Amino acid sequence: MREKKIYLTEQEIPNSWYNMKADLPKQLPPMIMADTLQPPAVEMLERIFAKPLIEQELSTERYIEIPEEVKKLYTMYRPSPLIRANFLEEKLGLKSKLYFKYEGVSPSGSHKSNSAIAQAYYNKSIGMKRLVTETGAGQWGSALSMACKVFDLECVVYMVKVSYNQKPYRKMLMETYGATVYPSPSEHTSAGRAILAKTPNTSGSLAMAISEAIDDALQDDHSRYALGSVLSHVVLHQTIVGQEAKKQFDIINEYPDIVVGCIGGGSSLSGMAFPFVHDKLTKGKDALRIVSVEPKACPKFTKGVYAYDFGDASNMTPLIPMYTLGNGFTPSSIHAGGLRYHGGNAELSLLIKEGIVEAKAIGQKDVFAAAVLFAQTEGIIPAPESAHAIAQAIIEAQNADAEGKPKTILFNLTGHGHFDMSAYDNYLSGEMQDIIPTDDEINESLKTIPKAPDISNY
Ligand SMILES: *Cc1c(COP(=O)(O)O)cnc(C)c1O
Repeated sequence: MREKKIYLTEQEIPNSWYNMKADLPKQLPPMIMADTLQPPAVEMLERIFAKPLIEQELSTERYIEIPEEVKKLYTMYRPSPLIRANFLEEKLGLKSKLYFKYEGVSPSGSHKSNSAIAQAYYNKSIGMKRLVTETGAGQWGSALSMACKVFDLECVVYMVKVSYNQKPYRKMLMETYGATVYPSPSEHTSAGRAILAKTPNTSGSLAMAISEAIDDALQDDHSRYALGSVLSHVVLHQTIVGQEAKKQFDIINEYPDIVVGCIGGGSSLSGMAFPFVHDKLTKGKDALRIVSVEPKACPKFTKGVYAYDFGDASNMTPLIPMYTLGNGFTPSSIHAGGLRYHGGNAELSLLIKEGIVEAKAIGQKDVFAAAVLFAQTEGIIPAPESAHAIAQAIIEAQNADAEGKPKTILFNLTGHGHFDMSAYDNYLSGEMQDIIPTDDEINESLKTIPKAPDISNY
């Protein structure tokens, strides 16, 4: 019998993060400021983010060493297991093989700790006292709260209002780790007050919460802002996942044909997939397919455009080259709160544009059908975000079987869903709905994309 779980030892935790920028088929369009159309002054970026993180953001070095102290904290839960979903395979009668990398083993419950620990470490290393951030579903806020406490940093979290109301236990978890949590938009920042003046009844969005967190961080010299996805340095930290997975596949003498991951800002899929994309681009793994999957309610890669856009809702960030629905896009209140973001990571966006990564979308009812099937076969309650990857992995397996060419499929099980039981309740009670934006609504939202150099043919 094949082993169900493939473990690595702590000594086998990778020593460096992998930087996709070193191997992109084209250079990325640079990040630019909306007013000057020039790259942002480094001093301005350093006022928002810790300097070592800015250096990582701009680096094109292929490998960046992981500090010892970060590796030591990673041992709280890393290496994470690679698990064969054989019970799910048997239930579905699959010939294709399904493997998942289980990031739900982290103390905060998701892959987000991989970057939170690194970001708290670098902020501490330059003498910061306080980190401010936003959280959608609460996973990033939980991860950062915990990481901040370990490094004795204060942590302030702006939590998207709809999640704050849906997930009181996530808030309590963050408070247990010692953080202060505000529902966003709030009266606490000028960015929040401006948003509330315009849209008093808004359920909030990640982009709004980002505006508030940056606004707050700028009020104090010893505060910095921390972002849980989208940016290159976050993706960089997440590549620990894909590198471990490759070592685990080596142990069982296998290699995936298809790598699947869900898409919020793109760091978890990128973190798992980029070490494999490296093989595809530089080691002749031509047949390897990388598949991203997003909610139909927030379809940036399948319905958005490749353009320069702001990362937040209040036009405070530099312009990032990415697939976007426009920063004015407010997705319906779907349960996968971590996937309600208007844009995606720059490197991943470029790889999608170049056809190296594929983009798919699924509605939340199909996602929850897969989530429940997974829970009832493998026993793990997946986060609604992660369940997008499960649903797509099942589709890929069934398609491969139908073609008579069974495949080995790897997906990222980014987190557990223990704090998402009200979402499961909504599904099980038959009340869940798919609210999908019409093309007209998307076109309206695309109008919020700022005037900037056209990169659609870059
Ligand atoms: C945040 C989150 C995601 C989305 O990850 P991105 O890196 O932003 O794409 C997926 N799954 C879980 C469990 C999350 O917490």
